[in-house]
Amino acid sequence: MPTPARRQYLDIKARYSDALLAYNIGDFYEFFDHDAETVARELRLTLTARTFGPDELVPLAGVPTHAIEVYAARLVARGYRVAICDQVSPPGRGLMQRAVTRVLTPGVLVEPGMLSPTRDSYLAALAIGRRDAATGLPRAIGLAWADVSVGAFACTEWSADDLPHALQAELARLAPAELLVTSALARDDAPEAPWLRPYSLSPCPDDAFDPENARIRLCRHFGVATLAAYGCERRLLAIAAAGAITQYVERVNAPLLALLSDLRTYDTRGYVELDGRVWRALEVVEPRRAAETAGPHAPSAPTGVTLLATLDATRTPMGARLLRRTLLHPLRERATLEARLDVVSELVEQISLRQRLGALLDGLGDLERLAARVAQGAAVPRELFALASGLGRAPAVIAALADAKAAALRETYASLDPCADVRELIERAVADPAEATGRRLRAGYSDELDALVHSASETRRWIAALEGVERERTGIRSLKVGYNKVFGYYIEVTRPNLARVPVDYQRRQTIATGERFVTAELKEREAQALQADERIEALDSDLYATLLAELARQHQRLRRTVAALAQLDHWLALAEVAVARRYTRPELTDDTPLEIVAWRHPVVEASLDGTEFIPNDTRLDDPSDASASGAPLRAMLLTGPNMAGKSTYLRQVALITLMAQVGSFVPAQRARIGLVDRIFARVGAEDDLARGLSTFMQEMVETAFILRHASERSLVVLDEVGRGTSSADGLAIAQAVIERLCAGAGARTLFATHYHELARLAATLPNLGAFRMDVAERDGSAIFLRRVVPGASDHSYGVQVARMAGVPADVTARAEALLCERLSALPSPPATLAERPAIYAEPTAREHGRVIDDVASNAATSRAPTDERELALALATVNLVAVTPLEALNLLFSLQQRALASLGMPTASRTHTERERE
Ligand code: ADP
Ligand code: MG
Repeated sequence: MPTPARRQYLDIKARYSDALLAYNIGDFYEFFDHDAETVARELRLTLTARTFGPDELVPLAGVPTHAIEVYAARLVARGYRVAICDQVSPPGRGLMQRAVTRVLTPGVLVEPGMLSPTRDSYLAALAIGRRDAATGLPRAIGLAWADVSVGAFACTEWSADDLPHALQAELARLAPAELLVTSALARDDAPEAPWLRPYSLSPCPDDAFDPENARIRLCRHFGVATLAAYGCERRLLAIAAAGAITQYVERVNAPLLALLSDLRTYDTRGYVELDGRVWRALEVVEPRRAAETAGPHAPSAPTGVTLLATLDATRTPMGARLLRRTLLHPLRERATLEARLDVVSELVEQISLRQRLGALLDGLGDLERLAARVAQGAAVPRELFALASGLGRAPAVIAALADAKAAALRETYASLDPCADVRELIERAVADPAEATGRRLRAGYSDELDALVHSASETRRWIAALEGVERERTGIRSLKVGYNKVFGYYIEVTRPNLARVPVDYQRRQTIATGERFVTAELKEREAQALQADERIEALDSDLYATLLAELARQHQRLRRTVAALAQLDHWLALAEVAVARRYTRPELTDDTPLEIVAWRHPVVEASLDGTEFIPNDTRLDDPSDASASGAPLRAMLLTGPNMAGKSTYLRQVALITLMAQVGSFVPAQRARIGLVDRIFARVGAEDDLARGLSTFMQEMVETAFILRHASERSLVVLDEVGRGTSSADGLAIAQAVIERLCAGAGARTLFATHYHELARLAATLPNLGAFRMDVAERDGSAIFLRRVVPGASDHSYGVQVARMAGVPADVTARAEALLCERLSALPSPPATLAERPAIYAEPTAREHGRVIDDVASNAATSRAPTDERELALALATVNLVAVTPLEALNLLFSLQQRALASLGMPTASRTHTERERE
């Protein structure tokens, strides 16, 4: 028979069998049995054992109570759920009452230490409709998600036409930390299993997804009779998913339900669709490497090379999260984008407005999560203080916006509620944490509390004065009043003076040097003081809880205000980056031109150390260009050797389009962009080993998808399609793909390839233009001019690139010889290609020379001495906001090397021969 204590543990554990149970005993959270083994292994803690029952020795691993969040965070990051079981009865005799107060799961976290400050943390749920008998695919799917750390809650639904790609795209965008599904869907043989695998799935009982149950639960939760006001009345699967979310949150951390006070129904058709791979390929919010190795719930990936890192000049975590969200939600609708661009324009032009807002937002902090902490009932006085001081800036922000012109700024101006009452209440009620009074509430807030504090301090004062009083009364000069934990207050008299002790002294303890006494009055006063302390503590807690509850009722208002501040922060960031990097406002149109003049790649530009980024142009579907050839160009075939800059060019066009469609300025002299509905990008070889697909298979799967789904409003960017197989195959496939994309009014397409033979196609396909990356040769080295010019390249420069990469000289020499043999065996290359009208001006000879010099000074082949100006330029163009410590170190190293070289001192770089010896 287990003891009652063991029984209690086992009962609770049985109810939370899917979680690790952290069981509070004294100053520790203990894990027992199998949990102990798991925790000891995962956290590298010592596994011990303790008797838990008459003759049961069970494994045990424990962590100190104060450190539970740190350890639990690590367990949750590894995909575990941790149930926190606390003592819920006051300490006393007999078995303590215990209960699980919350379960920490990857998607339901509010502890500030467990969340990344700069990204949202989503719990999502998928509700799958009935499957089609023929295909086995669901007829509709509902998705809901919540971020309990701020109180966001939304749902949507797709019908069969958009499935599964729209859903996959949305999941890639949200990257939920935890995804609730039915147990059937969580199984490995579910048709959706392969693409659900990257997510942390939590199977829930089927009835959690029942639309009717869900409707009832949601109506009760919101206190309404119908869900019509939330826009999802008829969307049964969206309702089912939202209902599953509330049921789950209620189970793992019921108080958080109060935060989900509103539900938004949305439609992903308003957004430009990009699938998960495209986000990664374009490195919009996550660098490619990190996204490959880490799952969606990895803490936060290193920054530095992403578009987000380049644009993120926000001043608050809530602004940073909003900017991330904005980049992930490019819009299709022009009016909304123009409204955003109006704001950025105004902030770009109004220097003083920009500066004033900047000063007000500096150090504002994460008011959004602070407001949520209040609604959770978890905020400590320090957090309330921070919230109040942040709200204190709202009136000045409103004043700064008084003359704003842009409609969206006017809206912010009109709707920014400074919540002065909330701020006043906090300031009136909460004690300044810096004063460290031990109380949470300030004097003057509650008469009752003040009276208690007063009487407690009176008593203490009486005790403090007692020593003097008793010395006077007894004439014992050495008499002392002291305190210890066992006896409380006492009067100590040394041995020689014992004879003078008055009769009302009661002996308590004998010590080496004398005796300790108490008096009846001292005992009484002591009891009073203790009682007062207890009552003060209890009243302080009660009043504080009441205060939090009152503040929590203002959460909706607070949310609107902090959302407005976050919005200002992210607009300001877009404007500041636009100014600093000389971005311009794109012209958006509802037809389909793509005309970008003198553009730069935002990320590469920001990361080039000292080298100038060479601007290029892109012109697709420009009617003015149609006169000569009949049809405007819809597709562009870009040839050029490896390393010439093709991928950069392609990604760049996609990124500029994306930037325009989130309402940002763009890194170009001028841009006219016909809004796109989808961006398809197949850039670089990316294996999908998790799904067992080879590079080539992966490439073909993606290409198939693009060919099926690209519309005439889409932008398609294809980099080196057909590279993953033999050249004959690859060429054939690439040609067929291009022909298909150029048939009819196809999508705007950019196609890069090192198969320069493909340029021939431009002669037969009227809307395809052939372009090449310009390359100069000097002393047997290729010098990449990074310039796009009409025509086709006739050379792969593979050997030159190999040489630049440090391939041993004898190998490159042999390769060159082989190449000559082969070339001489081939018939002469095709005659001049039919060229398009020259819409790209050939660089003038002077420009050419400059470019060659610029590039040559950077190329690994020639080490021209670096002069001061170049070093200064290198330093001046470093983007300090985006650079990681490691990159900074590398940069410093390269600058030092260049400085050493320019001084003629030996550098640390290894020569080719040294490398060969390794
Ligand atoms: P490709 O795809 O042709 O092999 P990439 O696009 O990968 O070439 O470019 C190789 C490198 O050249 C990039 O890493 C980048 O640093 C540099 N680069 C590309 N385009 C430019 C440019 N317009 N100006 C300056 N540097 C560039
Ligand atoms: Mg490339």
